[in-house]
Amino acid sequence: MSQTLSTDVLIVGGGVAGLWLNARLRAKGYATLLVERDSLGGGQSVKSQGIIHGGAKYALHGALSGASEAIADMPRRWREALDGSGELDLSGVRLLSDAHYLWSPGTLAGNLTSFFASKAVRGRVDQVKGDQLPPALQNPKFKGKVYRLAELVVDVPSLIARLAELAGDSLLAADDIQPLHENGQLAGLCVDGREIRAQRIVLSAGRGNADLLTSLNVAQPNQQLRPLHMVMVKGPSLKPLYAHCLGGGPKPRITVTSHPSADGEWVWYLGGDLAEADGVARDEAAQIEAARKELSQLLPWIDLSTAQWATLRVERAEPAQSGLVRPDNAFLSDQGALLVGWPTKLALAPDFADRVLSHLERDGIRPADHPALPELPRPVIGRTAWETSF
Ligand code: FAD
Repeated sequence: MSQTLSTDVLIVGGGVAGLWLNARLRAKGYATLLVERDSLGGGQSVKSQGIIHGGAKYALHGALSGASEAIADMPRRWREALDGSGELDLSGVRLLSDAHYLWSPGTLAGNLTSFFASKAVRGRVDQVKGDQLPPALQNPKFKGKVYRLAELVVDVPSLIARLAELAGDSLLAADDIQPLHENGQLAGLCVDGREIRAQRIVLSAGRGNADLLTSLNVAQPNQQLRPLHMVMVKGPSLKPLYAHCLGGGPKPRITVTSHPSADGEWVWYLGGDLAEADGVARDEAAQIEAARKELSQLLPWIDLSTAQWATLRVERAEPAQSGLVRPDNAFLSDQGALLVGWPTKLALAPDFADRVLSHLERDGIRPADHPALPELPRPVIGRTAWETSF
């Protein structure tokens, strides 16, 4: 039997939620261990579009929802971290775009009055024209209106790499997780046969939380999965674009982010309504055809004749909500020594960490002394779909 380890907080799941939390805890002097089964960030995190939302997308509904309020502060917190002056030092992380744009094709600008009046966007949205337009929209044929949102887009692989650096020696690649009980209480986990004792255990395993809860014999919280069918297009004619294109409905018609690939070409990653229910129902060929049609209608001057296409199916894992709606904030449930949650958005990873920290504070959990960790098998960093698909 391997030796027993002990730590203050044992985290299961090395996506953005677990890694951000781990870095925050270590910065506050807590001993931590983070267990990852596959690759760091390789679940949802590196499949995300990397937009650090400030809530503008949600304010498109017209009414200001809880989400718009809670998320409004996230761009500032991320910006400070990226500048090296925030709660974490993320100064080496690549910023893909300093702004995300809202683009209304043709005459659609119509009924945006309540949107511009909402708190999440008030004072944070400016119309841009001419050479201030994103490069992909700088064409005489472009007729729409474009607004600059004070939201960032981060390169998620470089974010995950930096968070892994901040994790120091606290990462452990391991697969099998069993509860470790003492006097009828959860005292830690048995990880690949090795006992790890901890003051608190945090499950931040994304969609893996459901199976972990089952193996720990814990019934709540329930999880919901919401599928997406994303499209990737890669080609020499693509210039960077980070924008929600408005349609008639409450969700953007299409959300485009652009990601650098190793050969210098850009990959456009397409989400929004295109990737939701109707897109999920399409097979890969039909989904690519739908995306091709959208782009040729919206951006007819872009030559896609030599572009390569691929799709990616991925599910968003979240706490169950009635009617499968999107939850409003990071979510955390506590059951004694066990804390379980989902950030619900990459942008809300700081909010997820805040919630864990306030539980520790409330329960008087302080950093304790622990023997030094032995050298542990370290999980690798996840690869993006555009690296593996083309
Ligand atoms: P994950 O990144 O899935 O990490 C969970 C980790 O736990 C994984 O590494 C997994 O391997 C590990 N794990 C699972 N089970 C176990 C186990 N038993 N033992 C050990 N480890 C385990 N949010 C935004 O804010 N902005 C966006 O632009 C954005 N775009 C998105 C686009 C898409 C297509 C999708 C699907 C989501 C997007 N999101 C976005 C949401 C965002 O990606 C997620 O909310 C966030 O990445 C979830 O992070 P996480 O750490 O909870 O989960």
